[in-house]
Amino acid sequence: MDAVNPATGERVDSYDAHTEHEVDDALERASVDFEDWRERPMRDRERLLESVADTLRENEGEYAETMTREMGKPVEQAVAEVEKCALCCDHYAEHASAYLGADHHPSPPGSSAKTVHEPLGPVLAVMPWNFPFWQVFRFAAPSLTAGNVGLLKHASNVPGCALAIESVFRDAGYPEGVFQSLLIPSERVEPVLADDRVRAATVTGSGPAGRAVAATAGDHLKKTVLELGGSDPFVVLDDADVAAAAETGAWARNQNGGQSCIAAKRFVVHTDVYDEFLRRFTDEFESLVVGDPMDDGTDLGPQARPELLSDLHDQVTASVDAGATVVTGGEPLDRAGAFYPPTILTDVPEGCPVDSEETFGPVAAVYEVADESSAVELANDTEFGLGASVWTEDRDRGERVAGRIDAGCVYVNQLVKSDPRVPFGGVNDSGYGRELAGAGIREFVNRKTVWVE
Ligand code: NDP
Repeated sequence: MDAVNPATGERVDSYDAHTEHEVDDALERASVDFEDWRERPMRDRERLLESVADTLRENEGEYAETMTREMGKPVEQAVAEVEKCALCCDHYAEHASAYLGADHHPSPPGSSAKTVHEPLGPVLAVMPWNFPFWQVFRFAAPSLTAGNVGLLKHASNVPGCALAIESVFRDAGYPEGVFQSLLIPSERVEPVLADDRVRAATVTGSGPAGRAVAATAGDHLKKTVLELGGSDPFVVLDDADVAAAAETGAWARNQNGGQSCIAAKRFVVHTDVYDEFLRRFTDEFESLVVGDPMDDGTDLGPQARPELLSDLHDQVTASVDAGATVVTGGEPLDRAGAFYPPTILTDVPEGCPVDSEETFGPVAAVYEVADESSAVELANDTEFGLGASVWTEDRDRGERVAGRIDAGCVYVNQLVKSDPRVPFGGVNDSGYGRELAGAGIREFVNRKTVWVE
């Protein structure tokens, strides 16, 4: 498996994929170590998670550079990602016991009824390259602390990250079988998931990946959580703080090279503030620094793989052919590496790619709408349902509009972000299940009812 630096096109490193025999050994270790791990007192598991947070913080520069070399995110953003992983570990080290405490139920006099939360076993995590550390820790911190063990099938372009994450758990003192990386391509996921030793799966990635894993899991009656793509609306109402909306909106679209499921992708702007918003928004886009992701001060590095850039540019080109107007950007940069500029499209026709598909890169579609109802209608005109952002100076109005948007989360006067303290996940084609907070740690558990007479 080759790791290729998308900023230069050079091969960073090459790894042998695990053989079938090695994968079988890993599954066996996972299943054997699970039996001890599940019996460990919760406090032990929480303490080990504290050590994971320490290990992450001690080595954040090294991990950040591995990410940047393999998938091109600016190194400052990669450092922030490692720190966020450590915060997630802090969170579950502090709250896991409370989240997993028993639920008590009404029962007849003389009896007691409660639900306890027991781990399921080895869970397969099929993870993407865009936040190569965060997406994994978001699953692993709660799920391992609940007593499960993890098998990571990371994206094929970030094998160094996969091995670095495995070493984080080893260095923190976890038994070998509690967290393991399987270096295998996607074609080899099916037999792993079908194996009786694997009890559940979680996927973060594209719709096709989610559907494929869910279909196999369904055949074998295994639980899944799917966190798939999004085409999040960013709604700017007539009473919004337009300067703040333009500044935050530009970052919500462009951070991580625009390669985020919860990036704002469709900007739905009230006609009364449309001109001002577009002017400010364009200024923000044009002020972003695109360049070497290893340099501090770079806002946007390359797209993670050359074919992802071509796919993105095809979406832009087809949308322009259908009638969209390029306000800024719109052509790959004429330099080595997979660089695409921050791009804004207006006059976006219904059904063209930037309107109806997920754009996984720095491309914003901006729409002008006549009123609040049209804004909500357009915001909901998508097959996805991950997040949404609404901008208004009237907080009650913001909550009211949030209630009308069909998504897993709505942020008012803030960009959509994942935070260990609040549940995260989508509806419709964005998937199902929740990660983070109490909801996340209760996904991969047997909610066992115990009635005592
Ligand atoms: P994929 O969804 O293909 O990759 C994500 C993960 O799923 C990788 O580990 C991949 O493995 C694995 N995978 C892919 N297909 C299957 C399958 N049939 N069975 C089991 N595992 C599978 O994303 P891409 O990297 O190809 O990116 C394509 C598009 O997906 C992006 O442009 C974006 O729209 C969306 N995406 C969304 C993400 C999100 O956060 N929601 C994250 C990444 C991508 P392997 O690398 O070996 O193929």
